[in-house]
Amino acid sequence: MSWLERDEKVVWHPFTQHQTAAKPLPVIRGKGTLLFDENGKSYIDANSSWWVNTHGHGHPHIGKALSDQFNAIDHVIFAGVTHPKAVELSERLIGLLPEYFQKVFFSDNGSTATEVALKMCFQYFFDRKATRGRFMAMHGAYHGDTFGAMSVGERDRFNRPFEPYFFDVDYIDFPDGTNDELVLKQAEELLKTEEFAGLIVEPLVQGASGMRIYSVEFLDRLSALAKKYGTFVVFDEVMTGFGRTGTMFAMDQCEVKPDIVTMSKGLTAGVLPMGLTIASQEMFNSFLSDDTAKGFLHGHSFTGNPLACAVGCANLDLFEQEETKQALKNIGEWNHAFLSDLAQHEMVENERQMGTILAFDVINEKGTTYFSNLRDIAYGYFVEHGVLIRPLGNVIFINPPYCITKDEYQTVRKTIFNFLDQLKKG
Ligand code: PMP
Repeated sequence: MSWLERDEKVVWHPFTQHQTAAKPLPVIRGKGTLLFDENGKSYIDANSSWWVNTHGHGHPHIGKALSDQFNAIDHVIFAGVTHPKAVELSERLIGLLPEYFQKVFFSDNGSTATEVALKMCFQYFFDRKATRGRFMAMHGAYHGDTFGAMSVGERDRFNRPFEPYFFDVDYIDFPDGTNDELVLKQAEELLKTEEFAGLIVEPLVQGASGMRIYSVEFLDRLSALAKKYGTFVVFDEVMTGFGRTGTMFAMDQCEVKPDIVTMSKGLTAGVLPMGLTIASQEMFNSFLSDDTAKGFLHGHSFTGNPLACAVGCANLDLFEQEETKQALKNIGEWNHAFLSDLAQHEMVENERQMGTILAFDVINEKGTTYFSNLRDIAYGYFVEHGVLIRPLGNVIFINPPYCITKDEYQTVRKTIFNFLDQLKKG
């Protein structure tokens, strides 16, 4: 039995309808931007392995940090214990954020980072006996698949069975540039009630709903409104963080900064799972008490895992290199050029870009839904032609590792155009 057949027997894959799904791609090796299957065929990892990979697969600096750390301490409980790499990573990240961010809380992935942010906001008001039991989120949002994270995400086919168990959330419309004033009004009406513990947004780009971009000005005004009415602003930088939008964090482009920020994905160069929720000293201080139960009583077995922390530090070393800064600039420019060429194509609409993310909608009678079969056709075509792109419905997007070469980028570009041409022919 091949190991792919063995997989079919025993593995239940994420986001997969096993009755209709094609066989998974059997990847056995990765180097830089490339993934290799067992026959040696290569695939350009154009979506950075679920948007996580920053500097390419198998980077020697990351590998060395990992093995050095393994030899020092692999894992240790993080309650009542600490270790140097957790401290170093916290210090270095805080150094990249506005000054008032002072405390780093560790968890395991983007969803748990969201949970922690939600719980911090709710507990803050609970301890003050304030009646702020609601959250505000944006239509189209995705913040993870745990219950709290689903509660603040778009209510759709993905989470319908669980909807009865979600807490109260009010959604504002997505600000598409034509309705921004209205959405701000909608937000202010809600915020005025002072019932909201927090507002959570994916800053500047909504990822899972199709790499939808909105303006810095809108976000600044929304954040300012939330703050005016005493609502905590949470930026979910799980996808946008670590260079994706062209700046280290999306918030770097904003004038009004959040109260809490979550990170994951690119945090560990896409190599190990880890989530972080970073808050102000003031938030931290509000949990101080002689009463143990007023502390933030949350944690996971692998919280603060030393290997993930060491890799996180090594990831930051690479971000400090001139080469990475230049790579971000290059990808931004290549995307920009690609975008104007895409705009000429009959099958393309709503082409958009922010930093290293480029996305467009394929014109398709069925419209944009995750479930449109165009996605499967496109995915199959790209894989066959050696490019791993996982479209979101009829939205095709690229967000490659920063080590992608110009030649590799050209291959991705050419493959996408060939696909569009074939589609046009019907
Ligand atoms: N927030 C955002 C903005 C995300 O894009 C994701 C994952 N795509 C998450 C949270 C959840 O992260 P994870 O899959 O690591 O739980």
